[in-house]
Amino acid sequence: MAEIFKIIPISSATADVAQKTAQDYTGLGEQKAYGQFVVDTMQRPLRDLRISVTDRCNLRCTYCMPREVFDENHPFLPRTELLNFEEIERIAKLFIQLGVQKIRLTGGEPLLRRGIEQIVESLAKLNTREGKPVEVALTTNAVLLSQKAQALKDAGLARITASLDGLTEETYRRMSDSKVSVKTVLDGIAAAQRVGLAPVKVNMVVKRGVNDHEIIPMAGHFRNSGIVLRFIEYMDVGCTNGWRMDDVVPSREIIEQINSRYPVRQVDPNYTGEVAERWHYADGSGEVGVIASVTQAFCHECTRARLSTDGKLYTCLFASGGMDLRGPLRAGATDQTLIGMVAGQWERRNDRYSQVRHDATALPREKIEMSYIGG
Ligand code: SAM
Ligand code: SF4
Ligand code: SF4
Repeated sequence: MAEIFKIIPISSATADVAQKTAQDYTGLGEQKAYGQFVVDTMQRPLRDLRISVTDRCNLRCTYCMPREVFDENHPFLPRTELLNFEEIERIAKLFIQLGVQKIRLTGGEPLLRRGIEQIVESLAKLNTREGKPVEVALTTNAVLLSQKAQALKDAGLARITASLDGLTEETYRRMSDSKVSVKTVLDGIAAAQRVGLAPVKVNMVVKRGVNDHEIIPMAGHFRNSGIVLRFIEYMDVGCTNGWRMDDVVPSREIIEQINSRYPVRQVDPNYTGEVAERWHYADGSGEVGVIASVTQAFCHECTRARLSTDGKLYTCLFASGGMDLRGPLRAGATDQTLIGMVAGQWERRNDRYSQVRHDATALPREKIEMSYIGG
């Protein structure tokens, strides 16, 4: 497993940066002022930042952290390797200067990070370059949400997405490989709604033959609730989940199933680059969505950067390597230097994994695990 955490430099420039000593960082990148928003080689701006605040989790979803790999011998990051609160805030500010408008905290399970409310609070105070508050959201498995919802709301969290892959104990246990009860998760979701973290979204990863029989019950459960349920195609993230195309239930098929039970009509995206396709129930009982990351790639509109738990910048969920920001930051690099590094990396970005997934020659040899890079 240590293998997959190895840094594989994306470019020689990255490798060069990784070798530098503290002194070398002074001056690096300072020659270029980023007054403009930065765009990559496909003209995609940098708009969203996902920050993984921990690589640990209290579940072992088979599609994300299979227990046979993420067992008691797995080398989770020691505390000193994690970005601390000040470092997270400082790096977030740099990304905002380059155009980031939304920040999503994720993991691993972000509610396991001690002081998560403080992280939310410090980020929610930040303003975008246009002077609007940065939107801070969080994705959680909701196991600890009943206890944390109020504090997160008070800290300034704008929105929450909870993950739930089925309503029966048997299905949930099969997907999450845990003894946590569905009620615990539903209570967490209800608590989020109660404190006003609305609209709460619920993500359901669909795996053929494992939980696809729960598509209609889940749709039925969340209609009329004000909660937006979104079905996610099972993806080939990381190298440990044994993904096969046969396990994917295409979003088309999911919508057809729902439509035959509860008629739906498609509605426009809320904003350019929204990953979920939106559908409304014809009888006015709410909204449902599908995220077709496998069958209808949306790389051309992907404006997301990811910051791993230990401070590496990844420009794609399927990247095989990231650029270390923590090293230079701890070595005393100036903001201007760090901005230059991030901007340079974004300007070199040509990622479009989901569009080339089926072309073996275009694929990276290794991929980082989602729990570390942030889902
Ligand atoms: N632990 C939190 C949770 O589960 O919500 C946050 C991190 S998790 C990696 C973020 C999201 O990624 C979850 O909604 C999860 O279901 C989804 N996810 C994880 N592995 C996936 C895979 N192989 N395919 C599709 N979605 C996946
Ligand atoms: Fe944990 Fe979320 Fe991954 Fe499930 S999907 S193992 S809850 S990080
Ligand atoms: Fe973005 Fe990479 Fe996903 Fe494409 S595959 S949408 S570039 S994260």
